Amino acid sequence: MGLAKTYKDGTTPTICIIGAGFSGMCAAIRLQTQLDLKTYTIFELQPELGGTWWSNTYPGCGSDTTSVNYQFSFEMNYEWSKTYAGYQEIWEYQRRVAKKYNLYEKIRFRTEITHAEWHEDLQQWVLDWTDHNTGETGQMNADIVFCGMGALRIPNIPKQFDDFEGPKWHTAQWNHEYDLTNKRVAVVGSVPAIVDKVKKLEFYQRSSTYIMPRKNANISAFWKFLFRHIPFVHFLYYKLTYWGTEFTIQTFSTKWRHAIPRRFAMFLAWCFRFWQIRGKKLRANLTPDYILGCRRLVVSSDYYPALVRKHVSVHTKAITGVKGQTLTLSDGSQQEVDVLLLATGFHVQDTLGEGVVIGRNKSDLAKVWVQGPKTYYGITFAETPNMFFLLGPNTALGHNSVLYMIETACEHAIMAIAHMMERDLSSIQATPKACKDFVDEVEEKMKGMAWSSDCNSWYKNKRGTITALWWSSCTHYWWRLRKFKPQHFTGVQRSKAPTTHV
Ligand SMILES: Cc1cc2nc3c(=O)[nH]c(=O)nc-3n(C[C@H](O)[C@H](O)[C@H](O)COP(=O)(O)OP(=O)(O)OC[C@H]3O[C@@H](n4cnc5c(N)ncnc54)[C@H](O)[C@@H]3O)c2cc1C
Repeated sequence: MGLAKTYKDGTTPTICIIGAGFSGMCAAIRLQTQLDLKTYTIFELQPELGGTWWSNTYPGCGSDTTSVNYQFSFEMNYEWSKTYAGYQEIWEYQRRVAKKYNLYEKIRFRTEITHAEWHEDLQQWVLDWTDHNTGETGQMNADIVFCGMGALRIPNIPKQFDDFEGPKWHTAQWNHEYDLTNKRVAVVGSVPAIVDKVKKLEFYQRSSTYIMPRKNANISAFWKFLFRHIPFVHFLYYKLTYWGTEFTIQTFSTKWRHAIPRRFAMFLAWCFRFWQIRGKKLRANLTPDYILGCRRLVVSSDYYPALVRKHVSVHTKAITGVKGQTLTLSDGSQQEVDVLLLATGFHVQDTLGEGVVIGRNKSDLAKVWVQGPKTYYGITFAETPNMFFLLGPNTALGHNSVLYMIETACEHAIMAIAHMMERDLSSIQATPKACKDFVDEVEEKMKGMAWSSDCNSWYKNKRGTITALWWSSCTHYWWRLRKFKPQHFTGVQRSKAPTTHV
Protein backbone atom coordinates (compact mmCIF):
# COMPACT_ATOMS: atom_id res chain seq x y z
CA MET A 1 0.00 0.00 0.00
CA GLY A 2 1.27 3.46 -0.88
CA LEU A 3 1.80 6.35 1.50
CA ALA A 4 -1.25 8.36 2.54
CA LYS A 5 -1.01 11.79 0.93
CA THR A 6 -3.88 13.58 2.65
CA TYR A 7 -5.93 13.34 5.81
CA LYS A 8 -9.23 11.54 5.49
CA ASP A 9 -10.98 14.87 4.96
CA GLY A 10 -8.65 15.70 2.06
CA THR A 11 -6.61 18.33 3.92
CA THR A 12 -2.83 18.35 4.26
CA PRO A 13 -0.55 19.70 7.01
CA THR A 14 1.20 23.06 6.84
CA ILE A 15 4.93 22.60 7.04
CA CYS A 16 7.84 24.83 7.94
CA ILE A 17 11.36 23.87 6.91
CA ILE A 18 14.19 25.69 8.70
CA GLY A 19 17.35 25.95 6.59
CA ALA A 20 18.03 25.59 2.87
CA GLY A 21 21.18 23.49 2.97
CA PHE A 22 21.21 19.89 1.82
CA SER A 23 18.90 18.94 4.70
CA GLY A 24 16.17 21.49 4.01
CA MET A 25 16.40 20.84 0.29
CA CYS A 26 16.04 17.11 0.77
CA ALA A 27 13.00 17.54 3.02
CA ALA A 28 11.29 19.82 0.50
CA ILE A 29 12.01 17.55 -2.45
CA ARG A 30 10.85 14.43 -0.62
CA LEU A 31 7.62 16.15 0.50
CA GLN A 32 6.93 17.07 -3.12
CA THR A 33 7.90 13.82 -4.75
CA GLN A 34 6.66 11.31 -2.19
CA LEU A 35 3.63 12.99 -0.68
CA ASP A 36 2.74 15.49 -3.44
CA LEU A 37 2.87 18.09 -0.67
CA LYS A 38 3.62 21.68 -1.54
CA THR A 39 2.17 23.24 1.59
CA TYR A 40 5.60 24.06 2.95
CA THR A 41 7.74 27.18 3.35
CA ILE A 42 11.50 27.15 3.70
CA PHE A 43 13.09 29.81 5.91
CA GLU A 44 16.73 30.57 5.20
CA LEU A 45 18.84 32.99 7.17
CA GLN A 46 21.30 33.63 4.36
CA PRO A 47 20.64 35.38 1.03
CA GLU A 48 21.27 32.12 -0.87
CA LEU A 49 20.67 28.41 -0.42
CA GLY A 50 23.46 25.89 0.04
CA GLY A 51 24.27 26.17 3.76
CA THR A 52 27.80 24.81 4.26
CA TRP A 53 28.62 25.24 0.59
CA TRP A 54 27.44 28.80 0.41
CA SER A 55 29.35 29.90 3.53
CA ASN A 56 32.63 28.03 3.18
CA THR A 57 34.60 29.47 0.29
CA TYR A 58 38.18 29.31 1.55
CA PRO A 59 40.93 28.28 -0.88
CA GLY A 60 40.95 24.51 -1.31
CA CYS A 61 37.54 24.06 0.35
CA GLY A 62 35.66 21.02 -0.87
CA SER A 63 34.21 17.72 0.19
CA ASP A 64 36.39 15.07 1.72
CA THR A 65 34.03 12.34 0.61
CA THR A 66 34.01 11.46 -3.07
CA SER A 67 31.77 13.56 -5.32
CA VAL A 68 29.79 10.54 -6.46
CA ASN A 69 28.91 9.85 -2.81
CA TYR A 70 28.33 13.47 -1.95
CA GLN A 71 25.13 14.05 -3.90
CA PHE A 72 21.48 13.08 -3.57
CA SER A 73 20.95 9.47 -4.58
CA PHE A 74 17.87 10.60 -6.52
CA GLU A 75 19.70 13.41 -8.37
CA MET A 76 22.84 11.98 -9.87
CA ASN A 77 25.29 14.39 -11.43
CA TYR A 78 27.35 12.83 -14.21
CA GLU A 79 29.41 15.97 -14.66
CA TRP A 80 31.59 16.19 -11.54
CA SER A 81 34.93 17.50 -12.72
CA LYS A 82 36.97 15.77 -10.01
CA THR A 83 36.73 12.76 -7.75
CA TYR A 84 36.48 15.22 -4.80
CA ALA A 85 34.46 18.29 -5.75
CA GLY A 86 35.28 21.83 -4.68
CA TYR A 87 32.80 24.04 -2.83
CA GLN A 88 31.81 25.97 -5.96
CA GLU A 89 30.85 22.87 -7.89
CA ILE A 90 28.87 21.45 -4.97
CA TRP A 91 27.04 24.74 -4.60
CA GLU A 92 26.25 24.83 -8.32
CA TYR A 93 24.90 21.30 -8.02
CA GLN A 94 22.66 22.41 -5.14
CA ARG A 95 21.39 25.36 -7.18
CA ARG A 96 20.67 23.16 -10.19
CA VAL A 97 18.72 20.69 -8.08
CA ALA A 98 16.82 23.53 -6.36
CA LYS A 99 15.83 25.00 -9.72
CA LYS A 100 14.70 21.64 -11.03
CA TYR A 101 12.31 21.21 -8.10
CA ASN A 102 11.27 24.89 -8.03
CA LEU A 103 12.58 25.31 -4.49
CA TYR A 104 13.57 28.94 -4.97
CA GLU A 105 9.95 30.02 -5.07
CA LYS A 106 9.35 28.32 -1.71
CA ILE A 107 12.31 29.87 0.14
CA ARG A 108 12.13 33.03 2.22
CA PHE A 109 15.71 34.23 2.11
CA ARG A 110 17.37 36.35 4.82
CA THR A 111 14.54 35.27 7.09
CA GLU A 112 15.51 33.70 10.36
CA ILE A 113 13.36 31.58 12.60
CA THR A 114 14.11 33.10 15.98
CA HIS A 115 11.71 31.13 18.14
CA ALA A 116 9.62 27.98 17.70
CA GLU A 117 7.16 26.91 20.37
CA TRP A 118 4.84 23.93 20.53
CA HIS A 119 1.26 24.75 21.48
CA GLU A 120 -0.49 21.66 22.77
CA ASP A 121 -3.93 23.29 22.55
CA LEU A 122 -3.44 24.18 18.89
CA GLN A 123 -1.46 21.02 18.18
CA GLN A 124 0.83 23.28 16.21
CA TRP A 125 4.18 25.01 16.24
CA VAL A 126 4.12 28.77 16.38
CA LEU A 127 7.28 30.14 14.77
CA ASP A 128 8.57 33.70 15.05
CA TRP A 129 10.53 34.97 12.07
CA THR A 130 12.62 38.06 11.34
CA ASP A 131 13.30 39.26 7.82
CA HIS A 132 16.84 40.65 7.98
CA ASN A 133 16.38 42.61 4.74
CA THR A 134 13.40 44.64 5.86
CA GLY A 135 13.51 44.24 9.64
CA GLU A 136 9.94 42.95 9.46
CA THR A 137 8.93 40.30 11.99
CA GLY A 138 6.04 37.89 11.99
CA GLN A 139 4.65 34.52 12.98
CA MET A 140 3.77 31.33 11.18
CA ASN A 141 1.71 28.45 12.49
CA ALA A 142 2.88 25.06 11.26
CA ASP A 143 1.61 21.56 11.87
CA ILE A 144 5.01 20.09 11.14
CA VAL A 145 8.54 21.47 11.35
CA PHE A 146 11.73 20.18 9.74
CA CYS A 147 14.91 21.43 11.43
CA GLY A 148 17.76 21.49 8.92
CA MET A 149 19.76 24.16 10.70
CA GLY A 150 23.16 22.51 10.20
CA ALA A 151 25.72 21.31 12.71
CA LEU A 152 28.87 22.88 11.25
CA ARG A 153 27.60 26.39 10.85
CA ILE A 154 28.55 28.71 13.69
CA PRO A 155 32.28 29.51 13.57
CA ASN A 156 34.16 28.83 16.77
CA ILE A 157 36.38 31.87 17.34
CA PRO A 158 38.31 31.56 20.61
CA LYS A 159 38.16 34.74 22.68
CA GLN A 160 41.95 34.94 22.97
CA PHE A 161 42.15 36.11 19.34
CA ASP A 162 39.93 39.15 19.94
CA ASP A 163 43.02 41.21 20.76
CA PHE A 164 44.70 40.63 17.41
CA GLU A 165 44.89 44.04 15.75
CA GLY A 166 45.48 43.10 12.12
CA PRO A 167 43.06 41.58 9.62
CA LYS A 168 41.70 38.27 10.84
CA TRP A 169 38.92 35.95 9.86
CA HIS A 170 37.53 32.46 10.28
CA THR A 171 37.73 30.09 7.31
CA ALA A 172 33.92 29.92 7.14
CA GLN A 173 33.85 33.69 6.56
CA TRP A 174 36.67 33.99 4.05
CA ASN A 175 37.67 37.52 3.15
CA HIS A 176 38.07 37.44 -0.63
CA GLU A 177 38.85 41.18 -0.77
CA TYR A 178 42.12 40.80 1.08
CA ASP A 179 45.15 39.76 -0.97
CA LEU A 180 47.43 37.39 0.95
CA THR A 181 50.25 37.68 -1.59
CA ASN A 182 53.60 38.18 0.14
CA LYS A 183 52.01 38.51 3.57
CA ARG A 184 53.16 36.93 6.83
CA VAL A 185 50.22 34.78 7.74
CA ALA A 186 49.38 32.93 10.94
CA VAL A 187 47.05 29.97 10.53
CA VAL A 188 45.49 28.28 13.52
CA GLY A 189 44.28 24.96 12.17
CA SER A 190 44.91 24.34 8.54
CA VAL A 191 44.50 25.91 5.08
CA PRO A 192 47.27 24.38 2.95
CA ALA A 193 46.03 25.89 -0.32
CA ILE A 194 47.36 29.37 0.50
CA VAL A 195 50.94 28.26 1.00
CA ASP A 196 52.18 29.26 -2.46
CA LYS A 197 50.88 32.77 -2.12
CA VAL A 198 52.22 33.92 1.18
CA LYS A 199 55.68 35.14 2.18
CA LYS A 200 55.74 33.37 5.56
CA LEU A 201 53.29 30.95 7.06
CA GLU A 202 53.16 30.37 10.81
CA PHE A 203 51.17 27.23 11.34
CA TYR A 204 49.74 26.52 14.80
CA GLN A 205 48.42 23.13 15.75
CA ARG A 206 48.59 21.76 19.27
CA SER A 207 47.37 18.29 18.50
CA SER A 208 48.19 16.61 15.20
CA THR A 209 45.71 15.05 12.85
CA TYR A 210 45.83 11.74 10.99
CA ILE A 211 46.31 12.49 7.32
CA MET A 212 45.39 9.95 4.68
CA PRO A 213 46.41 10.27 1.04
CA ARG A 214 43.81 11.10 -1.53
CA LYS A 215 43.91 11.21 -5.30
CA ASN A 216 41.78 14.06 -6.50
CA ALA A 217 41.76 13.05 -10.16
CA ASN A 218 40.09 14.90 -12.99
CA ILE A 219 37.14 12.97 -14.38
CA SER A 220 37.77 12.95 -18.11
CA ALA A 221 35.27 13.71 -20.87
CA PHE A 222 35.43 10.04 -21.80
CA TRP A 223 34.22 8.89 -18.38
CA LYS A 224 31.53 11.57 -18.29
CA PHE A 225 30.36 10.35 -21.69
CA LEU A 226 30.14 6.79 -20.37
CA PHE A 227 28.33 7.93 -17.22
CA ARG A 228 25.78 9.86 -19.28
CA HIS A 229 25.14 7.32 -21.98
CA ILE A 230 25.73 3.95 -20.33
CA PRO A 231 23.94 4.28 -17.01
CA PHE A 232 25.22 0.91 -15.82
CA VAL A 233 28.80 2.24 -15.81
CA HIS A 234 27.82 5.07 -13.51
CA PHE A 235 25.72 2.77 -11.35
CA LEU A 236 28.69 0.47 -10.90
CA TYR A 237 31.06 3.34 -10.13
CA TYR A 238 28.57 4.73 -7.60
CA LYS A 239 27.98 1.42 -5.87
CA LEU A 240 31.64 0.46 -5.75
CA THR A 241 32.57 3.83 -4.28
CA TYR A 242 29.73 3.64 -1.76
CA TRP A 243 30.52 0.13 -0.56
CA GLY A 244 34.27 0.79 -0.56
CA THR A 245 33.66 3.73 1.77
CA GLU A 246 31.16 1.82 3.91
CA PHE A 247 33.72 -0.88 4.64
CA THR A 248 36.13 1.70 6.05
CA ILE A 249 33.85 1.83 9.12
CA GLN A 250 35.84 -1.18 10.37
CA THR A 251 38.96 0.94 10.74
CA PHE A 252 37.11 2.93 13.43
CA SER A 253 36.32 -0.16 15.46
CA THR A 254 38.59 -1.00 18.39
CA LYS A 255 37.35 -4.59 18.59
CA TRP A 256 39.96 -7.31 18.11
CA ARG A 257 38.13 -8.76 15.12
CA HIS A 258 38.69 -5.52 13.23
CA ALA A 259 42.34 -5.28 14.21
CA ILE A 260 43.60 -5.98 10.69
CA PRO A 261 41.81 -3.13 8.82
CA ARG A 262 42.55 -0.82 11.72
CA ARG A 263 46.27 -1.67 11.88
CA PHE A 264 46.46 -1.44 8.12
CA ALA A 265 44.98 2.09 8.16
CA MET A 266 47.42 3.16 10.88
CA PHE A 267 50.30 1.69 8.92
CA LEU A 268 49.16 3.53 5.79
CA ALA A 269 49.01 6.82 7.72
CA TRP A 270 52.47 6.16 9.17
CA CYS A 271 53.97 5.36 5.72
CA PHE A 272 52.38 8.45 4.24
CA ARG A 273 53.84 10.64 6.99
CA PHE A 274 57.25 8.98 6.70
CA TRP A 275 57.26 9.39 2.92
CA GLN A 276 56.15 13.01 2.86
CA ILE A 277 58.07 14.42 5.86
CA ARG A 278 61.77 13.70 5.84
CA GLY A 279 62.69 15.81 8.89
CA LYS A 280 62.54 13.70 12.08
CA LYS A 281 61.60 16.57 14.37
CA LEU A 282 58.80 17.82 12.17
CA ARG A 283 57.54 14.28 11.68
CA ALA A 284 57.45 13.76 15.43
CA ASN A 285 55.58 17.06 15.84
CA LEU A 286 53.01 15.98 13.28
CA THR A 287 52.47 12.51 14.75
CA PRO A 288 49.10 12.22 16.50
CA ASP A 289 49.15 11.06 20.12
CA TYR A 290 45.79 9.31 20.00
CA ILE A 291 44.44 6.35 18.09
CA LEU A 292 43.40 6.68 14.47
CA GLY A 293 39.87 7.92 13.99
CA CYS A 294 39.34 9.41 17.45
CA ARG A 295 39.27 12.81 15.76
CA ARG A 296 38.17 13.42 12.20
CA LEU A 297 40.65 12.09 9.64
CA VAL A 298 41.85 14.50 7.01
CA VAL A 299 42.21 13.15 3.50
CA SER A 300 44.72 15.33 1.71
CA SER A 301 47.82 14.86 -0.36
CA ASP A 302 48.66 18.59 -0.13
CA TYR A 303 48.76 18.90 3.65
CA TYR A 304 52.24 17.56 4.48
CA PRO A 305 53.91 18.98 1.33
CA ALA A 306 52.61 22.41 2.39
CA LEU A 307 54.06 22.09 5.89
CA VAL A 308 57.55 21.03 4.79
CA ARG A 309 58.03 24.17 2.68
CA LYS A 310 60.93 26.43 3.76
CA HIS A 311 58.77 29.45 4.47
CA VAL A 312 56.43 27.47 6.75
CA SER A 313 57.01 27.09 10.50
CA VAL A 314 55.01 24.54 12.44
CA HIS A 315 54.25 25.42 16.07
CA THR A 316 52.83 22.84 18.45
CA LYS A 317 53.00 24.87 21.67
CA ALA A 318 49.91 26.61 23.02
CA ILE A 319 49.29 30.23 22.07
CA THR A 320 49.33 32.04 25.40
CA GLY A 321 49.14 35.65 24.33
CA VAL A 322 47.97 37.81 21.45
CA LYS A 323 48.95 41.46 21.44
CA GLY A 324 48.92 43.84 18.49
CA GLN A 325 50.00 41.59 15.64
CA THR A 326 52.22 39.32 17.71
CA LEU A 327 51.42 35.83 18.94
CA THR A 328 53.25 34.47 21.98
CA LEU A 329 53.59 30.76 22.67
CA SER A 330 53.93 28.87 25.96
CA ASP A 331 57.68 28.39 25.30
CA GLY A 332 58.10 32.17 25.13
CA SER A 333 58.66 32.37 21.37
CA GLN A 334 56.90 35.12 19.44
CA GLN A 335 55.81 35.60 15.87
CA GLU A 336 54.74 38.86 14.32
CA VAL A 337 52.33 38.43 11.41
CA ASP A 338 50.21 40.56 9.07
CA VAL A 339 47.11 38.38 9.02
CA LEU A 340 45.52 35.82 11.32
CA LEU A 341 43.44 32.99 9.85
CA LEU A 342 41.35 30.84 12.12
CA ALA A 343 40.54 27.30 11.04
CA THR A 344 39.27 26.67 14.54
CA GLY A 345 36.15 24.70 13.65
CA PHE A 346 32.57 25.25 14.65
CA HIS A 347 30.30 25.32 17.67
CA VAL A 348 28.75 21.89 17.31
CA GLN A 349 27.32 21.05 20.69
CA ASP A 350 25.70 24.43 21.22
CA THR A 351 24.36 25.35 17.76
CA LEU A 352 20.85 25.60 19.12
CA GLY A 353 20.52 28.76 21.21
CA GLU A 354 18.63 28.77 24.50
CA GLY A 355 15.00 29.74 24.13
CA VAL A 356 14.88 29.03 20.38
CA VAL A 357 12.98 25.73 20.41
CA ILE A 358 10.42 25.25 23.17
CA GLY A 359 8.71 21.89 23.19
CA ARG A 360 5.97 20.32 25.28
CA ASN A 361 5.61 21.48 28.88
CA LYS A 362 7.72 24.54 27.99
CA SER A 363 10.89 22.46 27.80
CA ASP A 364 13.75 24.39 26.24
CA LEU A 365 15.48 22.04 23.82
CA ALA A 366 18.91 23.67 24.19
CA LYS A 367 18.80 23.26 27.98
CA VAL A 368 17.49 19.71 27.83
CA TRP A 369 19.99 18.62 25.20
CA VAL A 370 22.96 20.03 27.04
CA GLN A 371 22.61 17.02 29.36
CA GLY A 372 22.78 14.76 26.30
CA PRO A 373 20.19 14.74 23.53
CA LYS A 374 17.94 11.71 23.88
CA THR A 375 16.38 11.46 20.46
CA TYR A 376 14.97 8.65 18.38
CA TYR A 377 17.66 8.04 15.74
CA GLY A 378 18.47 11.76 15.80
CA ILE A 379 15.19 12.48 14.02
CA THR A 380 12.45 12.91 16.61
CA PHE A 381 12.35 13.73 20.30
CA ALA A 382 9.76 12.94 22.96
CA GLU A 383 9.29 16.60 23.94
CA THR A 384 8.93 18.02 20.42
CA PRO A 385 5.92 16.57 18.61
CA ASN A 386 5.80 16.90 14.82
CA MET A 387 9.37 18.17 14.66
CA PHE A 388 11.87 16.29 12.52
CA PHE A 389 15.58 16.92 12.91
CA LEU A 390 17.82 16.45 9.91
CA LEU A 391 21.47 15.75 10.62
CA GLY A 392 20.34 15.75 14.23
CA PRO A 393 22.24 14.34 17.22
CA ASN A 394 24.06 11.04 16.63
CA THR A 395 23.60 11.11 12.87
CA ALA A 396 26.88 12.61 11.63
CA LEU A 397 29.54 10.24 10.34
CA GLY A 398 33.24 9.74 10.65
CA HIS A 399 33.61 7.62 7.54
CA ASN A 400 31.08 8.42 4.79
CA SER A 401 28.84 11.07 3.29
CA VAL A 402 26.20 12.48 5.63
CA LEU A 403 23.87 12.96 2.69
CA TYR A 404 22.87 9.32 3.07
CA MET A 405 21.93 10.01 6.66
CA ILE A 406 19.96 13.11 5.71
CA GLU A 407 18.09 11.16 3.02
CA THR A 408 17.30 8.31 5.40
CA ALA A 409 16.06 10.74 8.06
CA CYS A 410 13.85 12.44 5.47
CA GLU A 411 12.42 9.11 4.30
CA HIS A 412 11.60 8.28 7.89
CA ALA A 413 9.95 11.64 8.49
CA ILE A 414 7.89 11.17 5.32
CA MET A 415 6.69 7.80 6.61
CA ALA A 416 5.79 9.40 9.94
CA ILE A 417 3.79 12.15 8.23
CA ALA A 418 2.01 9.62 6.02
CA HIS A 419 1.23 7.62 9.16
CA MET A 420 -0.22 10.73 10.79
CA MET A 421 -2.48 11.40 7.84
CA GLU A 422 -3.54 7.80 7.50
CA ARG A 423 -4.41 7.51 11.22
CA ASP A 424 -5.85 11.01 11.38
CA LEU A 425 -3.36 12.21 13.98
CA SER A 426 -2.74 15.85 14.69
CA SER A 427 0.62 15.12 16.30
CA ILE A 428 3.14 12.39 16.70
CA GLN A 429 6.24 12.00 18.81
CA ALA A 430 8.72 9.28 19.71
CA THR A 431 8.10 7.68 23.10
CA PRO A 432 10.61 8.47 25.88
CA LYS A 433 11.41 4.75 26.01
CA ALA A 434 12.20 4.54 22.29
CA CYS A 435 14.48 7.57 22.66
CA LYS A 436 16.19 6.16 25.74
CA ASP A 437 16.70 2.77 24.10
CA PHE A 438 18.33 4.44 21.11
CA VAL A 439 20.68 6.61 23.16
CA ASP A 440 21.59 3.75 25.52
CA GLU A 441 22.45 1.59 22.56
CA VAL A 442 24.59 4.29 20.96
CA GLU A 443 26.44 4.83 24.22
CA GLU A 444 27.08 1.12 24.61
CA LYS A 445 28.20 0.59 21.01
CA MET A 446 30.44 3.63 21.09
CA LYS A 447 32.60 1.88 23.69
CA GLY A 448 33.94 -0.30 20.88
CA MET A 449 34.70 2.60 18.54
CA ALA A 450 37.76 4.82 18.19
CA TRP A 451 35.70 8.01 18.56
CA SER A 452 35.19 7.38 22.25
CA SER A 453 38.88 6.88 22.99
CA ASP A 454 41.02 9.50 24.69
CA CYS A 455 41.16 12.71 22.63
CA ASN A 456 39.34 16.01 22.32
CA SER A 457 36.96 16.17 19.40
CA TRP A 458 33.82 17.94 18.31
CA TYR A 459 32.08 14.58 18.31
CA LYS A 460 31.87 14.72 22.12
CA ASN A 461 29.89 16.95 24.44
CA LYS A 462 31.33 18.53 27.61
CA ARG A 463 30.71 15.32 29.53
CA GLY A 464 32.70 13.30 27.00
CA THR A 465 29.65 11.55 25.52
CA ILE A 466 29.59 11.21 21.76
CA THR A 467 26.49 13.09 20.72
CA ALA A 468 27.39 13.92 17.13
CA LEU A 469 28.04 10.55 15.52
CA TRP A 470 26.09 7.48 14.57
CA TRP A 471 28.01 4.42 15.68
CA SER A 472 27.78 2.24 12.59
CA SER A 473 27.51 2.33 8.78
CA CYS A 474 24.98 4.35 6.78
CA THR A 475 23.52 1.13 5.48
CA HIS A 476 22.89 -0.03 9.04
CA TYR A 477 21.13 3.27 9.83
CA TRP A 478 18.95 2.85 6.75
CA TRP A 479 18.21 -0.78 7.64
CA ARG A 480 17.02 0.21 11.10
CA LEU A 481 14.75 2.92 9.72
CA ARG A 482 13.52 1.34 6.51
CA LYS A 483 10.12 0.69 8.09
CA PHE A 484 8.13 3.02 10.28
CA LYS A 485 7.49 1.42 13.68
CA PRO A 486 4.26 2.83 15.15
CA GLN A 487 4.96 1.14 18.49
CA HIS A 488 7.83 3.61 19.03
CA PHE A 489 5.53 6.63 18.76
CA THR A 490 2.62 8.18 20.56
CA GLY A 491 0.14 10.43 18.90
CA VAL A 492 -2.88 12.60 19.40
CA GLN A 493 -5.97 11.81 17.42
CA ARG A 494 -7.23 15.01 15.85
CA SER A 495 -9.12 16.78 18.66
CA LYS A 496 -8.70 13.94 21.15
CA ALA A 497 -6.51 13.26 24.18
CA PRO A 498 -3.04 11.68 23.80
CA THR A 499 -3.03 7.93 23.34
CA THR A 500 -0.27 5.39 22.93
CA HIS A 501 0.45 2.89 20.17
CA VAL A 502 -1.87 4.55 17.69
C1 LIG B 1 34.23 22.72 5.15
C2 LIG B 1 33.26 21.60 5.30
C3 LIG B 1 33.43 20.45 4.56
C4 LIG B 1 32.53 19.40 4.69
N1 LIG B 1 32.73 18.27 3.94
C5 LIG B 1 31.89 17.23 4.07
C6 LIG B 1 32.08 16.04 3.32
O1 LIG B 1 33.01 15.92 2.55
N2 LIG B 1 31.20 15.03 3.50
C7 LIG B 1 30.16 15.12 4.36
O2 LIG B 1 29.39 14.17 4.49
N3 LIG B 1 29.93 16.25 5.07
C8 LIG B 1 30.77 17.29 4.95
N4 LIG B 1 30.56 18.43 5.69
C9 LIG B 1 29.39 18.52 6.57
C10 LIG B 1 28.27 19.35 5.89
O3 LIG B 1 27.92 20.37 6.77
C11 LIG B 1 27.08 18.48 5.54
O4 LIG B 1 27.51 17.51 4.61
C12 LIG B 1 25.87 19.19 4.91
O5 LIG B 1 26.22 20.18 4.01
C13 LIG B 1 24.96 19.74 6.00
O6 LIG B 1 23.81 20.24 5.41
P1 LIG B 1 22.64 20.87 6.31
O7 LIG B 1 21.62 21.35 5.38
O8 LIG B 1 22.26 19.90 7.35
O9 LIG B 1 23.34 22.07 7.08
P2 LIG B 1 23.94 23.41 6.51
O10 LIG B 1 24.56 23.17 5.19
O11 LIG B 1 24.78 24.00 7.58
O12 LIG B 1 22.67 24.32 6.26
C14 LIG B 1 21.91 24.82 7.31
C15 LIG B 1 21.17 26.05 6.82
O13 LIG B 1 20.22 26.44 7.80
C16 LIG B 1 20.20 27.85 7.88
N5 LIG B 1 19.70 28.22 9.20
C17 LIG B 1 20.21 27.85 10.40
N6 LIG B 1 19.46 28.35 11.40
C18 LIG B 1 18.45 29.03 10.83
C19 LIG B 1 17.34 29.76 11.35
N7 LIG B 1 17.13 29.87 12.66
N8 LIG B 1 16.50 30.34 10.47
C20 LIG B 1 16.68 30.22 9.14
N9 LIG B 1 17.71 29.54 8.59
C21 LIG B 1 18.59 28.94 9.42
C22 LIG B 1 21.65 28.24 7.66
O14 LIG B 1 21.75 29.57 7.24
C23 LIG B 1 22.09 27.23 6.60
O15 LIG B 1 21.93 27.73 5.31
C24 LIG B 1 31.45 19.51 5.58
C25 LIG B 1 31.29 20.66 6.35
C26 LIG B 1 32.18 21.70 6.21
C27 LIG B 1 32.00 22.93 7.04
